[in-house]
Amino acid sequence: MKEASIIGAGLVGSLLSIYLAKKGYAISVHERRGDMRNEEVEAGRSINLALSDRGIQALKEVGIADEVLNIGIPMHGRYIHNLDGSHAFQPYGKEGQYINSVSRRELNCKLMDLAEAHGVKLQFNQKLDHINFKKNELSFKTEQQPQTPNAKHQTVPYKLLFGADGAYSAARLSHMLQHNLFEYHQTYIDCGYKELSIPAGENGRFLLEKNALHIWPRKEYMLIALPNLDGSFTGTLFFPFKGDMSFEKLTTEETVLSFFQQTFPDIVALVPDLVKQFFSHPTSSLVTVKCFPWIRDDKFCLIGDAAHAIVPFFGQGMNAGFEDCSVLNQLMEKHSENWTEILDEFQTLRKPDADAIADLAVNNFTEMRAKTADPKFLLQKKIEAQLHEFYPDKWIPAYSQVTFSPHIRYSEALQNSQRQEEIMQEIMQKEDVANSANNRAFIDKIVKEYLEK
Ligand code: FAD
Repeated sequence: MKEASIIGAGLVGSLLSIYLAKKGYAISVHERRGDMRNEEVEAGRSINLALSDRGIQALKEVGIADEVLNIGIPMHGRYIHNLDGSHAFQPYGKEGQYINSVSRRELNCKLMDLAEAHGVKLQFNQKLDHINFKKNELSFKTEQQPQTPNAKHQTVPYKLLFGADGAYSAARLSHMLQHNLFEYHQTYIDCGYKELSIPAGENGRFLLEKNALHIWPRKEYMLIALPNLDGSFTGTLFFPFKGDMSFEKLTTEETVLSFFQQTFPDIVALVPDLVKQFFSHPTSSLVTVKCFPWIRDDKFCLIGDAAHAIVPFFGQGMNAGFEDCSVLNQLMEKHSENWTEILDEFQTLRKPDADAIADLAVNNFTEMRAKTADPKFLLQKKIEAQLHEFYPDKWIPAYSQVTFSPHIRYSEALQNSQRQEEIMQEIMQKEDVANSANNRAFIDKIVKEYLEK
């Protein structure tokens, strides 16, 4: 019998289990937490995620995209809330292109249900403590089961093992501690985040435009909000930890209220218990993890955030993890059951892509918080949109390459976007640029000058 074990029943571990079960593997998934399908949501940890084409493609391959999309809300663009109360809508792509707001919890529960329906054995309250790579054994601390004999520690053998236990992966730590040449880089950005729930209006009415990702850009920080099926929005404040305007300064009810009144006045009106939420919800940090190697021979592989955690500003962490599953699947087909070849090619292919999306995500933080309200930036985006409209095969904006073009690798998207940015910086210096965004002759001229050389 073909067998595999997965650490972590999060988004990627659950999806991976479905892929492997479909290939005839008997799968055990070991999850640290209890079964979230039977537990209450922790306040301030409801997070919703943007699911886009790469993730959808991976869900389609195992036939579960429609079921997942049923619990999503299409978002066609960014809805910008300026400080002076004015609004602007910036479409994400061409008409018909959109991303989907999905509750992390609902998505995770659905993937676990589907995994079980495919025969996957999900085991909860099993916190990985250690992997013995010589003996091919896992050691768990089993929590919340004091009545069970030997509840404290449990050791189980594995044949093929995937570490899908997220950004602070215990599988990765064990791998690192038993590896001579393991490379590890961990970087935090200067901002943390805090969730603030924007309730629905009467009868589940959406109090903001439903089909958009809302952004309140304020240069050094920003607030975003994604819609939920019940009419509420999950807001997230990305805000510096330290400095004049920072979490460390907002320590009293008065300072919090006055900050929101000055900076996000419409939020004060929308969230009646704003101050209570601010103090009761946790402040979390945002990490990028780059590491290598991800594998050990034909027996072990890191996947998803455990291999490549990224900051959330391109909405790609989960999508990249889902794409990992799809790439692994293609390699299983290519190399049959030869796991040495499958895993080796997997990390060779995916590492440059993971590094690229990590860098793109950090860059997009600057774009979202500082530039989405800048008229020069908006003009640049308008010209890029026109270039894409008239010359779709010659110019695909970076956002569209990453979000709507799963056939373009992240590493290619990064290279293309760097070259495009150089071109756009030259174009933005042109005298006639301000009045030319809607001028077809101007767009044609740019193409001749820069793209047909
Ligand atoms: P996780 O989802 O973290 O799952 C890991 C699982 O492993 C968990 O169930 C955990 O309990 C379990 N585990 C951990 N340690 C152990 C252990 N020792 N033993 C056993 N089990 C263990 N991505 C997008 O694509 N779009 C977005 O819009 C988006 N927005 C985001 C917003 C925020 C604020 C954040 C923080 C992230 C966002 N992401 C987004 C990223 C996305 O959440 C992650 O990329 C995704 O959750 C990774 O899935 P994973 O399964 O690899 O890890």
